[in-house]
Amino acid sequence: MKILVTGGAGFVGSACLRHLIDQGADPVAYDNLSLGHRDAVPADRLVVGDIADTAKLASLMKERGIEAVMHFAAATYVGESVTNPDHHYRNNIAGTLSLLTAMREAKVDRMLFSSTCATYGLNPKMPMSEESEQVPCSPYARTKLAVEWMIRDFAEAYGLGFTLLRYFNAAGADADGSHGEDHDPETHLIPLVLRVAQGRMDSLKVFGTDYPTPDGTCIRDYVHTADLASAHWLAIQATTPTTREVFNIGTGDGNSVMEVIKACEEVTGREIPLEICERRPGDAPALVADPKKLKTKLGWKMKYPTIRDVVETAWAWHESHPQGYADRVPAAANA
Ligand code: UDP
Repeated sequence: MKILVTGGAGFVGSACLRHLIDQGADPVAYDNLSLGHRDAVPADRLVVGDIADTAKLASLMKERGIEAVMHFAAATYVGESVTNPDHHYRNNIAGTLSLLTAMREAKVDRMLFSSTCATYGLNPKMPMSEESEQVPCSPYARTKLAVEWMIRDFAEAYGLGFTLLRYFNAAGADADGSHGEDHDPETHLIPLVLRVAQGRMDSLKVFGTDYPTPDGTCIRDYVHTADLASAHWLAIQATTPTTREVFNIGTGDGNSVMEVIKACEEVTGREIPLEICERRPGDAPALVADPKKLKTKLGWKMKYPTIRDVVETAWAWHESHPQGYADRVPAAANA
């Protein structure tokens, strides 16, 4: 299957791209390298470009005979979405509109979309099924929910098969230590805790200890990227031009910030100094998946079901790549 992977040089996109190659599919990554890494993708499978460039996308899809799109490219920082919503609305909503326009022109009629558990936001019902009410509590989450609706409306009007995948917290690294999480700036919990363990930061800021959770810190469902990737492969094979589907991708187990820190201390054998801080704007108290539908309908099985499994792979990556990927070059220089 010839698949265009937007954001294919990013953390989750590149993990999916590698999995697609392993499964015998024929993917091409399309990425502006603003957040992604050239080294995360085989050179012959990367096209550098922006999803705002409708004409470039359409001609690439026609030239390569693309049959389906996996759409990962997006602005993803929750905190930044609060301070700079323009960037998120432009990238996520206008960017997806550009992609859907190009897909219509190139007659590509199947897609997966990387949505998020953050669209459930303040919903207190746990774990969250796909039918849970969507109550997004950040501009980031609102852009993702708006795109879900955009895709549904395009599917009705113009014919498009889609599967919406609502991820919980993507984490972990490749088992062989070759690929892992490298964001700039890094804002995610596990890599930051591991940086403290490495002595690259003095302490870990804990954003809020007064949430309505057992230990007062936020609860998240950390799912390994390899398990996310296998879900994408199952989903794209099940997506036909008439599919209208949605799946959660999460383990079904939630861990608080304090529990994640404890798992990191156990795996690294190092103590993590903490700094208790105010809540971070836009954070939901608890987000835990009910992954039953993905398991029963698509036969999804996890390789890394526990927080310890996830942290062990992440720690191996951090130890072998303390500075992350070696390729951070401004996008303009590569275009
Ligand atoms: N978090 C924290 N300190 C940090 C980074 C994150 O306490 O330095 C918390 C954050 O408030 C959230 C959880 O860890 O409750 C997971 O945050 P992350 O940014 O990894 O993922 P998100 O849930 O925002 O997608």
